[in-house]
Amino acid sequence: MIRSKQIQRPQLVLVVDDQELNRDILGVILEDNFEVIYAENGQEAMEQIRERAEELSLILLDLMMPVMNGFQVLEQVGADEELKKIPIIVLTAEKEAELRALQMGAADFITKPFEVDEVILARVNRIIELSEGRKLISAAEHDRLTMLYNRNFFFEYANRLYQYHPEYQLDALVLNIEQFHSVNALNGYEFGDDVLRALGNEIRTFLSETEGIAGRFEADRFDIYCVHQPDYRALLQRFQDKLNQISPKVNIHLRMGVKPWREGVEPVLLFDRARAACNMVRGNYQNPLMIYDEDMRMQELLNQRLLNDLRGAVEEKQFVVYYQPKYNIQTDPPRLASAEALIRWKHPELGMVHPGAFIPLFEGNGLISQVDSFVWQEAAKKVAEWKKKYGFTLPVSVNLSRADVFDPTLISQLEDLVTSNGLEYKDIKLEVTESAYTDNASQVLEVIAGLRAKGFEIEMDDFGSGYSSLNMLSEMPVDVLKMDMKFIRNIEKRETDRRLVYLIMDIAKYLGLAVVAEGVETKGQLDFLRESRCDLVQGYYFSSPLPPDEFERLIQHELKIKRE
Ligand code: C2E
Ligand code: CA
Ligand code: CA
Repeated sequence: MIRSKQIQRPQLVLVVDDQELNRDILGVILEDNFEVIYAENGQEAMEQIRERAEELSLILLDLMMPVMNGFQVLEQVGADEELKKIPIIVLTAEKEAELRALQMGAADFITKPFEVDEVILARVNRIIELSEGRKLISAAEHDRLTMLYNRNFFFEYANRLYQYHPEYQLDALVLNIEQFHSVNALNGYEFGDDVLRALGNEIRTFLSETEGIAGRFEADRFDIYCVHQPDYRALLQRFQDKLNQISPKVNIHLRMGVKPWREGVEPVLLFDRARAACNMVRGNYQNPLMIYDEDMRMQELLNQRLLNDLRGAVEEKQFVVYYQPKYNIQTDPPRLASAEALIRWKHPELGMVHPGAFIPLFEGNGLISQVDSFVWQEAAKKVAEWKKKYGFTLPVSVNLSRADVFDPTLISQLEDLVTSNGLEYKDIKLEVTESAYTDNASQVLEVIAGLRAKGFEIEMDDFGSGYSSLNMLSEMPVDVLKMDMKFIRNIEKRETDRRLVYLIMDIAKYLGLAVVAEGVETKGQLDFLRESRCDLVQGYYFSSPLPPDEFERLIQHELKIKRE
């Protein structure tokens, strides 16, 4: 049974070593948690053992000693039915001796020179627990806030379970709190502590009902190593419910990654995978659980590949920018109004890679700014080129990612982009996703407001997928709402989605904002949007994103309508 129980009286440990230094070192490590007695050789040890057999929880035994060595102690103890029950850890410097000692009944060994204190303590605790079916609580191995294990102890313990109890077949679970730093920043650290404590409590309750251990590290990362659970979604919901209970007013979102047990996979690797799974659902409030499988392994390999290939890709000009038109649908016929620049990666071996496969990856590690500024440059050059060639400006929107907003050179970079290409600010529009606004509100608002004050038009991308409330919206620096595609997808089928679109149109009108619908694929969708007074439409119905030369044909077509 893997279970924590606090016990009252300190347990008795006998340290047997002929060298005073070694006795001292072990004493320092153990005396905070145990009552420690000492012996200098095997003979003294046997006397102590016989005298206090009832009380002894553990013997730490050196093998090479004068008078009577450790092997002889092992032999005598092993021959006695009562004494045999006391676990012995041998202290040794040689592999051979270790094996022989284990064969003679030693429970474990500690190698000399001594390892890190925590490891020794962990081994000692582990062995006592195995022999007594109970577990010591000591400050050194626990996180004070949650009373879960700290990192070192957790992994030490996990490794032992893995080694000595393969029959458990334990799964690795990693729990994380979304945006925990914001939870702290917005509600105070005391509140943050309450949240962590509540989660820790619930995890401990859970562990009292099943077999497993848990630790907390990196503020809000909780690792659980437990026997397979029938329903991980329900388990995550259970933890989430607990947090909702303690803070009904503040939205706290948990996410969880699971790596199921697999023969021969060590805990550290198991937890690496579980963490990767957990990171994959970062920000995914609809589906905060990910169970690691072979697909993810493939995905990870691909991600690794893409990250490796990025530098070369920039140098070898494998990135290209496509343009997708936005049409004004309140005119008849609809007129080309602007375009969105969308990146494509023409990978020499993987073929055309879509941004969904690499943008989130590069956003995660800061490489995205390189890619984005490349796209901005390309787009600005094209706008200037078309302006010169066709005598009118077709504005192009570029995407800003979260990381860009935190780049102190952002404003000057964009300024430079406009002036060096002989453009006006309104010729380049900036798309910022709604979630970037809501995640780190104040800083983002400040930067975006600065850009807008310059004259850049700001489009809030994927509007409706995040959580901006109406009153927040009225204070946000925004010119255009870009409705999230998911609303459009079902407007022909679902009354509720139609009503949502009406609602968004009302909000936009009230705030004086234009609306773009994206992902429009059918005539039915288009007709509904036209009728709901939506201004602009982007989607396959008109055109998919196109390479610049193909896109140019749309400009030429537009010029023809103009002349007629
Ligand atoms: P987004 O900004 O929401 O871009 C719209 C996406 O919808 C594009 O996917 C586009 O090809 C696709 N789309 C357009 N019309 C339709 C339609 O009628 N039906 C459907 N089902 N899809 C349609 P894409 O190009 O794969 O881009 C995906 C996302 O990658 C973009 O979403 C954007 O968030 C990001 N992205 C693309 N280029 C860049 C870039 O240069 N920088 C940054 N930071 N992000 C970019
Ligand atoms: Ca966009
Ligand atoms: Ca979008």
